[in-house]
Amino acid sequence: MSEKRTGLIHHPYVPPEGFAAPQPGVFKASTVFFPTVAAMRSREWKDKTGYTYGLHGTPTSYVLEERLATLEGGVQCLLVPSGLAAIATVALSLLKSGDEVLIPDNAYGPNKALAQGELKDWGITPQYYDPLDPQDLARRISPKTRLVWLEAAGSVTLEFPDLPEQVRICRRAGVLSALDNTWGAGLAFNAFDLAQEGAGGQGVDISIHALTKYPSGGGDVLMGSIVTRDPQLHIRLKLTHMRLGLGVGMNDVEAVLRALPSMALRYREHDRTARALARWCQTRPEFTQVLHPALPGSPGHAHWQALCGAEEGRAAGLFSVIFDARYSAAQVDAFCDALRLFKLGYSWGGPISLVVPYELAGMRQGWPAHLARGTLVRFSTGLEAAEDLQADLAQALTAL
Ligand SMILES: *Cc1c(COP(=O)(O)O)cnc(C)c1O
Repeated sequence: MSEKRTGLIHHPYVPPEGFAAPQPGVFKASTVFFPTVAAMRSREWKDKTGYTYGLHGTPTSYVLEERLATLEGGVQCLLVPSGLAAIATVALSLLKSGDEVLIPDNAYGPNKALAQGELKDWGITPQYYDPLDPQDLARRISPKTRLVWLEAAGSVTLEFPDLPEQVRICRRAGVLSALDNTWGAGLAFNAFDLAQEGAGGQGVDISIHALTKYPSGGGDVLMGSIVTRDPQLHIRLKLTHMRLGLGVGMNDVEAVLRALPSMALRYREHDRTARALARWCQTRPEFTQVLHPALPGSPGHAHWQALCGAEEGRAAGLFSVIFDARYSAAQVDAFCDALRLFKLGYSWGGPISLVVPYELAGMRQGWPAHLARGTLVRFSTGLEAAEDLQADLAQALTAL
């Protein structure tokens, strides 16, 4: 942790001659000039030895790519206009008609929506596996499976899977694995080094990250990253990225670069507050279940602890509650409306705490056995004082 925290601040950026300042410059371009026709024909952008066109990167985006790859323990990085664009780019690059893709049943909703929509239309078959049963994943891998999505913890319900075992299963089957690493943010665990055993490390093939969340930290930037360790896989993704014309704005890149040095500190604070509030919610009779990987009894807690350890700064600032079944959905809506500091809004990772009620029934293949029946509400903790947030929850509960 301390190493990452330092690494986010001390990075190999080389400032222009005679202008040694901490923040990289903002280089914006569509056009880049070449001195000669020969240079135009020979300049290479794929390995970053040169600049050819703004869509393929500028010195500013190269710095962010470098730092994100280092943070996540990968080697190469691509920037895309959102976290969802990172998911879509991976899918479009690696899947074709006749292929199968496996997605955890608790995955980020739009990942499943893409699979049910365009991917199905294009003859690609999605299957949803139980994130808490590695054998269910193993059973569903067929000769047609080309990609397995992983997510830890799962969106909304926050089950923590046995990630090292899932990766071993993918490796044994020779299938590419892609992790949605937005929750871990490169800080909670190392996606490219999940199990020490075995030569060459045991990690995922691809880690995507919604930079929109913790790396941006402001609730004002949309961006995503795709980090890899294998140069051939990177080039395959990069060519798709280029053909799709995906670019990011350099002012946004700069906003992320400015926020990265404080990310480890912010992440730990979000984590600390979320755990404190989740523990408090456990004492309240209104909730039958509180979901947070660091809570003993929460689904997948042991897997979280084995991979991340228990210390603060090893979990995102997210937790969910399931209200006792005696409360109607309308009462739970009234509770959410009554919150003052927690704002109703999607996304997370910024300074302001957010809340979203979810209709779980429509989101899963069936109601999971490990989840109580009742209305689910997900909280993301911002950077406000934990006591104030707790008081806000307490006053809103009286609206029930
Ligand atoms: C927010 C999020 C995304 C998508 O990020 P956007 O930038 O909003 O498109 C993907 N995965 C997870 C787990 C997320 O929370």
